[in-house]
Amino acid sequence: MQTLDNFIDGKPSASRSERSATVYNPATGEPTAHVPLSTAEETRAAIGVAQAAFEGWASTPPLQRARVMFRFKALLETHRDDLARLISQEHGKVFSDAKGEVTRGLEVVEFACGIPHLLKGEFSPNVGRDIDSNSLMQPLGVCAGITPFNFPAMVPLWMVPVAIACGNTFVLKPSEKDPSATLMLGELLAEAGLPAGVLNIVNGDKEAVDVLLTDPRIQSVSFVGSTPIAEYIYATASAHGKRCQALGGAKNHMVVMPDADPQQVVGSLIGAAYGSAGERCMAISVAVCVGDEVADKLVGMLEEEIAGMRTGPGTGVEPEPHMGPLISREHRQKVLGYIDLGVQEGARLVCDGRELVVEGYENGFYVGPTLFDRVTPEMRIYQEEIFGPVLVVVRVGSFDEALQLVNRHEYGNGTSIFTRDGDTARQFEENVKVGMVGVNVPIPVPMAFHCFGGWKRSVFGPLNMHGPDGVRFFTRMKTVTRRWPTGIRAGAEFSMPTMK
Ligand code: NAD
Repeated sequence: MQTLDNFIDGKPSASRSERSATVYNPATGEPTAHVPLSTAEETRAAIGVAQAAFEGWASTPPLQRARVMFRFKALLETHRDDLARLISQEHGKVFSDAKGEVTRGLEVVEFACGIPHLLKGEFSPNVGRDIDSNSLMQPLGVCAGITPFNFPAMVPLWMVPVAIACGNTFVLKPSEKDPSATLMLGELLAEAGLPAGVLNIVNGDKEAVDVLLTDPRIQSVSFVGSTPIAEYIYATASAHGKRCQALGGAKNHMVVMPDADPQQVVGSLIGAAYGSAGERCMAISVAVCVGDEVADKLVGMLEEEIAGMRTGPGTGVEPEPHMGPLISREHRQKVLGYIDLGVQEGARLVCDGRELVVEGYENGFYVGPTLFDRVTPEMRIYQEEIFGPVLVVVRVGSFDEALQLVNRHEYGNGTSIFTRDGDTARQFEENVKVGMVGVNVPIPVPMAFHCFGGWKRSVFGPLNMHGPDGVRFFTRMKTVTRRWPTGIRAGAEFSMPTMK
């Protein structure tokens, strides 16, 4: 079995750690690689490499940094299928979905190609007589990123292109469950002409992460993962004086109004709930039906659609399955446990994915599409993030009740409403306490030039990923107020200066 390397100073670098984790092909259940769990010392050495590269990179004109991004974008396009195959092999998602992930990551690179424009800053002439004021957006230094398993290319691409285009250097700790696609991004950036040491990838777990959170040379920490870890990352990084953006878990509701087009709702819901086997932070896991009539109709139609769904390996099978396996054996057990729990809690199990066996892939980590009806807010299957192909239907009596339900949930990542009524949609947009809102759009993932991030316990820290927030996060603002010598000809001032 292959042993994966770290990627340090522009090239692969073997770890000397005695600890490692196993990477699996979730479609077959077979182990495919060992990934080193790097030591604290190796992580500190990677920070040293990034620190040494900082000065040269920070002083490289933004236009030249952008040119690296343009070449990187072209390489991502050339290697889109290779990356997607790696993602599918280690994550399990189907090939077309993996290609979509690469494209969404590539769009952040396109955004970063505009960095000279994004770093122009502000200028105000004559803020006081003969005095001008302007802002400088300067890089922070060495930035760190810690990423989850569910988007091994896209989530690193939310952070790295913006950070390095702004002139920072970076140490990235990918998920130990599927690191190969992330490592390939490092290789492609080197091929694009990124100077050695600007991006370093350290495989590992808590031992490596704790160094990134506490080492005084790290200026910022970007994290995406589950809420308990996001909270820990935010608290620890902040306590060590670093700026931090930590994105956590989700339980995304889709509100279905009685006037919504049922066919459109079902088509949208089924993809949003079961695509990528529900392992998306923007997956819809709760359908909130306004009125029993809507719920009865929707549940009946979903049941029919689910009966036609194919679950199987992400590559090598024609026609392509609708969804693949879960990431690991342990996660499969956890999801199965939630389905058992839903039955115990008294929800009506309409479609049961527990017994699914995929012929020829009997050891894969599969769970079939699962649907619960008559779920109530007191149930744990409603409250907790399951992160699997499990959709729950909650019935409410009115729009106001639906809105309150969404707003009372501890998570606030994404949500959507399906309706034909503009006034209802507008009320929803205005009053829902969620960071990303869709109107007749099931997965409202913002484009790269907008910001990605939730509210409530789905995010810790004020600045979200990419878009204007990303540039703000990865730069330090300096404001210069400037007067040239003729302004002081009148002599010294002893009173508090005010603009004249
Ligand atoms: P996770 O929290 O288990 O792991 C995320 C990262 O943190 C990994 O790199 C992991 O190695 C590291 N980590 C794990 N335990 C740690 C610890 N005790 N100390 C320090 N580091 C630790 O998350 P995951 O299972 O990889 O990803 C799934 C989760 O990510 C879901 O909860 C999902 O909602 C969330 N997610 C959120 C978003 C978002 O935008 N809000 C996007 C993608 C995924």
